[in-house]
Amino acid sequence: MDVKSAERLIRDVPDFPKPGIVFKDITPLLQDPAGWRAVVDEMCAQVGSAQASAMVGVESRGFLFAAPMAYQLNVGLALVRKPGKLPADTLTQEYALEYGTDRLEVHRDAFEPGQPVIIVDDVLATGGTAEAAAALVREAGAHVVGFAFLVELSFLGGRERLGGVPVHSVYRY
Ligand code: AMP
Repeated sequence: MDVKSAERLIRDVPDFPKPGIVFKDITPLLQDPAGWRAVVDEMCAQVGSAQASAMVGVESRGFLFAAPMAYQLNVGLALVRKPGKLPADTLTQEYALEYGTDRLEVHRDAFEPGQPVIIVDDVLATGGTAEAAAALVREAGAHVVGFAFLVELSFLGGRERLGGVPVHSVYRY
C-alpha cells in the first residue's frame, strides 16, 4: 500500500474528547499491516538523512511510531513520559494546556551529551507538547535535529513553536 491510500485509515472522530475537536484516530491504521508499514517507512524516509542516533517517543501514541522507526533505522529509542512513570532519576518539564498545566519527564541519563535526536509523535496540533518535549530533551543534553509526526494540523500553527528545527509530517490538514 502507498502512503496516499493509507490516509483513509486515519479516522476523523468529531467532538472527541470534547465538543469542537476532530480527533485523528489512528487505530484503523494500526489494524492494517500494509498501511502501518507504509507510514512508518515514509516517516523513516523523511528523517533518514538527519543522522540522528536516537528517536524520542512522546507518550503514548508517539511510542507507536518512534519504536518501529528506531528499529528500522537501527538507532536508539528514548521515552518522554507522563509524570510518575519513569523509575530512575528524571528531569521534568511543565507546560500549559488550554486549561491548567501538564508535565513530561525523561530520564536524566537518557542521552549522551550532544546526541542528535528526532522527537516523534502521532499528531502535531498546537505544538505545546512537542515544544515541551524538546525543552526537556535539550535539558537532558541531547541535540534536537528534527521532529517527525504522522499528522500535522497546520491550521493550528504548531510548527511555528518548534524553533526552526526541521519538522516532518506525512499528512497535513
Ligand atoms: P499539541 O500539544 O496541541 O500539539 O497536541 C499534541 C498532542 O495531543 C499529541 O500528543 C496528540 O496525540 C494529541 N492531539 C492533539 N490534537 C489531536 C487530534 N485532533 N487528534 C488526535 N490527537 C491529538
